[in-house]
Amino acid sequence: MMDYQLTIATILRRAEDLYSKKEIISCLPDKSIHRYTYDDFAKRTKKLAVALQRLGIREGDKVATLCWNHYQHLEMYYAIPCIGGIIHPLNLRLSPADLAYIVNHAADKFIIVDQVLLPLFEKFKSEINLSRVIVIPQMEETIPQDYLNYEAILEAGDEKEFDPFEKDENAAAFMCYTSGTTGKPKGILYSHRSITLHAMATLLGSVGIGISEKDVVLPIVPMFHASAWGFPYSCTLVGATQVFPGPYLDAESLLSLFESEKVTVTGGVPTVIINILHKLDSDPKRYKLALRTIVLGGSATPRFLIQAFKERYGILAIHTWGMTEISPMGSSSFMTSKLQQASQEEQYDQAIKQGFPLPFLEIRARNEMGFIPWDGETMGELELRGPFVIASYYKEEDADGKFTPDGWLKTGDIATITEDGCISIKDRSKDLIKSGGEWISSLALENALMEHPHVREAAVIAVPDTKWMERPFAYIVLREGKTVSSRELREFLADKFAKFWIPEEYEFIDAIPKTSVGKFLKAALREIYNAKRSSKTSG
Ligand code: AMP
Repeated sequence: MMDYQLTIATILRRAEDLYSKKEIISCLPDKSIHRYTYDDFAKRTKKLAVALQRLGIREGDKVATLCWNHYQHLEMYYAIPCIGGIIHPLNLRLSPADLAYIVNHAADKFIIVDQVLLPLFEKFKSEINLSRVIVIPQMEETIPQDYLNYEAILEAGDEKEFDPFEKDENAAAFMCYTSGTTGKPKGILYSHRSITLHAMATLLGSVGIGISEKDVVLPIVPMFHASAWGFPYSCTLVGATQVFPGPYLDAESLLSLFESEKVTVTGGVPTVIINILHKLDSDPKRYKLALRTIVLGGSATPRFLIQAFKERYGILAIHTWGMTEISPMGSSSFMTSKLQQASQEEQYDQAIKQGFPLPFLEIRARNEMGFIPWDGETMGELELRGPFVIASYYKEEDADGKFTPDGWLKTGDIATITEDGCISIKDRSKDLIKSGGEWISSLALENALMEHPHVREAAVIAVPDTKWMERPFAYIVLREGKTVSSRELREFLADKFAKFWIPEEYEFIDAIPKTSVGKFLKAALREIYNAKRSSKTSG
């Protein structure tokens, strides 16, 4: 066979050759809608690549981006790796101190910033050392003098000079940092090869999420988080119409865009998708949607969400699991031939599991006794290997023993695996509750509590207990205008779990603290709990 390197340039070329008339649509910061074709996208991307080269970007150089989801960000996703550079999107929800740390640690050379995000950039620019700042014009005001104008430099690039980087599929193409809920964020590099294989795997209808040229895809997941789950690469590979929401991620703006652009597939974390469901439920006839699939991931998906979309709106919600370290999608919960014969209830039971590993991803799990049997019951820490799993962190040898001696990644997720390979995540290892020597899954309790019609969000943490060592403690956010007592919640859980699983204590709060990508921040809840306890003791 030919020695054909799997590179980002090959995705771009295919898109230009096959899908030139397909559209890419963006909602811009001024709320206007920008449309252009794949042909325009390819031409501008090549010009940008040449322009960046002229300004001094060489193979292996990193270009940071501080941008929302829009067509120019898509251009950077391709132009930078296509000259052998590394695109490094920065999570704009992080603190200026964390952003400065990340830019310095990565040793980024240039940065490309949305004009509307300049106020954020100004907060950490004195802490970093970049040779160029390029700004995407988005407002009436002119761009500050020391900075370059994205559109002006792109216009000066000559498409004919485009010389795509195709010599080494193992070269780094993309950089991101873990969300770092504990300790400093860690750097991760995706290669041309890992991105390409991950895109292929996620595209499969039978085991991935099944996107094709017929689809109109709107990724809600930000392009600054783990390559927006690979959507910008997978969608381009098959020529799907792409829709980018810009900064407007509230349910109303998203639903309007779903309707006007006839979006068929979207993807986001459960907290965002729950808001969309509530908005739809508040006036079910208001929106005429073409949506067929919602990809959920990033944290466990409550059963009611999958059920409500299917039964009320005929939309399939696919539950996926992943982590930044694995590019990031690792498994998806889809219908098997066996399950097709099963009852609706059994199908929902399956749908809330994290599902089956994507092709090429190998799984195993172990506990203190060794590798666990695949019996769907024994729990162990999930370990992975495969072509889109990191082999090390950037500039760190073996961060906190994250790899086994034989080179598998330790996920920190506690899971069971069924005999046919279906993964069910029970908890992060640090969130699992051990009460009287028995394990309790905080995820299972949270999902059950969120089934209660008056509960909007629930998060459960382990708290110290003199008799049982640890007990589950539940934080509850109520739906607007609703109330429920701790006793009612205990009764609600009573027929779902063994007695010792059921939390005695519940605290009602306004919002669960969340990470920069919308996951429950349990470390913050533990701090709240400890602060309250110590003030009680000292009082
Ligand atoms: P991040 O790298 O920030 O995306 O975080 C990865 C972690 O999020 C995983 O190790 C899991 O603990 C959690 N996670 C992601 N998807 C799911 C899911 N579908 N169910 C449960 N936990 C999830």
